[in-house]
Formats: sequence, C-alpha cells, structure tokens
Amino acid sequence: MPEAVTQEHAGIAVDDTPSAMRVMIAPFRHLFQPRKAGAILANASRRYFCLAFGFNMLVLLLVFAAIVTWSQTLTKKNEGPGIHELVERSPLDVWAGWFAGSGIDLIITMALLVSGIIIACAAALAWLQRPVMHSNAPLWTTYKRAFRVVVSGSGILALVGGAVSLIYVAGDHNSTRNMVDPTRVPTNLYIQAVVLAIPAAISVLILWVSKAIRGTNHPQEDEDITPLCEGCGYNLSVLPTGGRCTECGLDIVKSLTHGEYRPGNAWQIDKSARNWSKTALRCLFSPKQFYSQTQTKSAELRGQWFAYLHYASMAAFGAGWILATTMIISKSGFRAEELVFVVYVAASMTTFAAWGVHRFVGAAVAMWWHKQDLQRNPAILPIVHTYETVYLWLFCAFNGLFITSQLAIPNWFPGLQFSLSLFGLPPESVAIFGGNGILILLWIRRYHRALLAVRWANF
Ligand SMILES: [Zn+2]
Repeated sequence: MPEAVTQEHAGIAVDDTPSAMRVMIAPFRHLFQPRKAGAILANASRRYFCLAFGFNMLVLLLVFAAIVTWSQTLTKKNEGPGIHELVERSPLDVWAGWFAGSGIDLIITMALLVSGIIIACAAALAWLQRPVMHSNAPLWTTYKRAFRVVVSGSGILALVGGAVSLIYVAGDHNSTRNMVDPTRVPTNLYIQAVVLAIPAAISVLILWVSKAIRGTNHPQEDEDITPLCEGCGYNLSVLPTGGRCTECGLDIVKSLTHGEYRPGNAWQIDKSARNWSKTALRCLFSPKQFYSQTQTKSAELRGQWFAYLHYASMAAFGAGWILATTMIISKSGFRAEELVFVVYVAASMTTFAAWGVHRFVGAAVAMWWHKQDLQRNPAILPIVHTYETVYLWLFCAFNGLFITSQLAIPNWFPGLQFSLSLFGLPPESVAIFGGNGILILLWIRRYHRALLAVRWANF
C-alpha cells in the first residue's frame, strides 16, 4: 500500500480517511507543517481535494478583496494643478461603490483574472517539482500529485502574499498622505521594505512547497529492485550468487555487496567542507566517473545540503558580481545604502534564476526519461538532479562575464554585431539566448551520461 508507506515515511500520522473539513482547512491548520499539509491533500479523495481547492481559492480571493478594499479607503482627488485633496471612505462605502452600477461585472472579471493567475503559477510550480519527486508513475499522475501539494501551500501564500500587499498598501497610503503633509515618513522607506519583502516571500513559498513535496515522496528502500550486474545490467537473480556474471565476467559478489563496486561519492561518505568542493569538482569535470561511484538507493543519499551550499555560494557570487561590476562601470560611485539594495536584489535574482533553470531542465529530463522508460529506481533523477546543481556555475560564469563585458566595453564584438544586424537581430540577446541554449543542451547530455552510469546501481 503506497499511501500507508508514504505517510509513515513522512513521520506523520494521517487519518486513513480525513474528513472533508480536515482536507479543506489543512493548508491553514498546518500552516507551519508543510509535509503534513502536503500529505493530506496529496492523499485525499478527488472529491475532497476539489472541495479543498475551491475553498482555498475562495479564501485567497477574499484576502485579495480585503486588501484591495483597504487600499481604496484612501484616495486623492485633484483639485487643480498641484492641489490635492484626500478622500477617506469606510470599507463598506468602498464595497457599496463597487456594487453600484456595472461594478459587479468588474468584480467578477477581477476574481476570474486573479484566480487565473494563481492557478497558472501553481500549475507552473507543480511542473517544476517533477525532478525532485520520487515517482515512476505516468507523467500525468505524478503531475496531479505535485499540483495537489502546491495547492496545500495556499495557506502560506495567503500569509506571505497578504503581508507583502499590506506593506505595499501602507506605503501607497503614506505617499498619498505625503501629498498634503510632506513631513510624514519618507515614501522610499516603504519602497525599500517592499523590495526586501518580495524575494523573501518568494523564497518562503518555494521552500515551503519543496518541503511539502518531500512529505509525499515514496521511500525507495522498500521497493523491490531486481539485483543487476553493475557492469552490464544482467539480471543476477537468475544466476547463483558467487562466481562471475555470464555476460561481462564481473564478480557477482562485487555487484551485490554494499560499498564494493559503488562506494558512494565523497559527499555521501563524509559531509566535510573538503569533500564538498571535491565532490563539486569531480561531478563537474568527470561526471561519468563521479556517477559510477554515486549511490542512488536511498533518499538520504540525495545530498540536499550539497545543493543548498551551492545555492548560498551562488547568491554570494551574484552579490560579489554586482559589486565588482558596479565598481567597473560606475564613475560617480553609489551610496552605501543603495548598494545594499542592489546587492540584495542581485543575490536573490541570481538564486531564483539558477533555481528556475535547474528545475526547468530537470523537469524536461524527467519527461524524456519517463517517455523512454529509462529509470528503474525513482530516486535516480532526484539524486542526479541534486548533484547537478554544480553545473549552474557555468551559467553564472557565462552570463556574469558576458553582461560585465557588455557594460564595461560596449560593442566588443563588432564582427558579430555586423553579421547579426544583417538578419535584424539584436546581437546581445542572440548571444545570451544562444549561449544559455548551448549550455542547456550540453546539460541534458550530461544527465543522460549520468543515467548511463547509475542505471544498474544496486545501492
Ligand atoms: Zn555483467
């Protein structure tokens, strides 16, 4: 029974049949327990899930409506050039104004638009979960499961989305009041708060969903995997243990003994700083050798901290890069206060871009592997995907160098510029898209080579 195994694996006691109410309120009741909320929605019956989906969408729309209402309670009226008058209304008056005349059409249009945007974002986020899901089920089944888990994040979306919107509206009201009373809080303090809050909110949502997904992953230790010869993939269950593989001559005991043929990579053996960099270099420069040593049997071997540390380093790289570039191109210099924001935005943009590319390529690989039925152990893709984080450094290096050189020495490739201008294409964007496209194609090839190195792994 995979459901029962799932719940036990996540360390969560979920009722066998949670009531409709429990399913509906799970995203709010388990606001700080993503694994639990995710497991409840993923395992709910279709009817209960649809109820929960509708209910959560309604709550999100109400939160949105409440914030828009509040934002409309204070507006300004132009009384002539440079003369403003504040108009304050109660929330009830705002609502009365909406419902008067053709306002109801506008409310329905807005509700449909906002739900459409939320559903589209949830659908995209669910697709990006594919490379970390342990599943050999049909693509659509896995996708639906991921979508349910993403929906379980509607509670946290209401919380962080609501918080960011509140800061935004407070800032908007403040700047409106500034029109008549300029001695108030400076507007840019609120702008800075929103700039700080948005990346933080996105990070919280992404981390929450990633954690919830892990709550629904199947433990592959319990799956029955036929022992294969590590050298050639021959089915060893039909051969007597001891002796040699009849196909390639590899010692059978070697294939079947833990740590013998496949000792595990350095990070799997010991998580030290030295092994972190050693693993990164080995994975990046000799992937075939690296993956032929990497163990893929259990979820604990995934090496999430290996990836987290790379993401943290890439954020630091983004920050350092923007500082260096600013120093190169800036003649007048920046104020320290501005620099802090530039660094913060650069660090978060680098991390989000890296995460997006990583997941996007991983999801594409997942579809391809699934179509070809290449993966016998569902843990293989999540493990390979995690170690492939190191490849993101090539994107950082390429884009960082390209953008800096463009800013520092404009038009440094006049020959290319000339030939591309004949086709009417802006050369910078062609170089950026072309370069990143080639990196992505090479990456997909790397995934395939990794798969070839781990496809017969018994451990
Ligand atoms: Zn063999």
